[in-house]
Amino acid sequence: MTEPYESQRPKKGPIGELFAPVAGFGVTFSSMFKPTVTEQYPRRKTPPQTRYHGRHQLNRYADGLEKCIGCELCAWACPADAIYVEGADNAEAVAGSPEAHMSPGERYGRVYQINYLRCIFCGLCIEACPTRALTMSKDYEIAGPTRAGMIYEKQDILAPLAEGMLAAPHPMVEGTTDTEYYRDEISGPTQEQVDWVREHRPDDDTLAAAAAVVTGDAPKPTPSQHELRPDQDRAVATRAAATQSSVDVRPVQTEEARP
Ligand code: SF4
Ligand code: SF4
Repeated sequence: MTEPYESQRPKKGPIGELFAPVAGFGVTFSSMFKPTVTEQYPRRKTPPQTRYHGRHQLNRYADGLEKCIGCELCAWACPADAIYVEGADNAEAVAGSPEAHMSPGERYGRVYQINYLRCIFCGLCIEACPTRALTMSKDYEIAGPTRAGMIYEKQDILAPLAEGMLAAPHPMVEGTTDTEYYRDEISGPTQEQVDWVREHRPDDDTLAAAAAVVTGDAPKPTPSQHELRPDQDRAVATRAAATQSSVDVRPVQTEEARP
């Protein structure tokens, strides 16, 4: 025979019993005199907390070279199997110009994809990255109308070129190895790098600003982290259209193809 249930909550007095049926309205009534706290998103965007982990970003060195070396450690560390990386030799980045680099050292990340349908934003990938190429931004607007559109390509997460940086590919700073790059001892493009780009890509948009840095007419570039390029600040519709074309071009990772 089980004991009859008896509540452990303290019993109300006669006044409490009298107002119990309408007590809940007290919360509603008192809220009427408090300021409205509704976020006016998306018209007004609320900055996330300082340590918020949002969309990933692949960073650059001050001379414009990419930090990612295509080592795939981030992909191996990912518990959700959300990252796909294909490395390639820098020597093959530009046909006929083995001195050109996309990143310091031997290799660079030729293909880099993150599937945001899988990502749980745990940050293990950025902990695994040996070059601090991969960090997480405060961008939280990564919803989209298509599954394919949630697979972000390298160009979607690559850090913008700061003013004064020289667009890759181009040679490393003369007399340096990848070690100097990893130690963050590179402060900007050099005359040799500017000359190389002027010879191989005379119409490059970043040439003028980089040349100004070399001559001292402009300040050294500051690698920007966690800032979106205007074309990365995607509207949902734009994202859907753009991603469809990128998946068509490079169907390395698709939701349909993966288990
Ligand atoms: S944040 Fe976590 S789940 Fe997302 S890609 Fe990195 S390791 Fe994978
Ligand atoms: S982001 Fe970092 S860990 Fe991932 S492939 Fe590039 S260098 Fe390696």
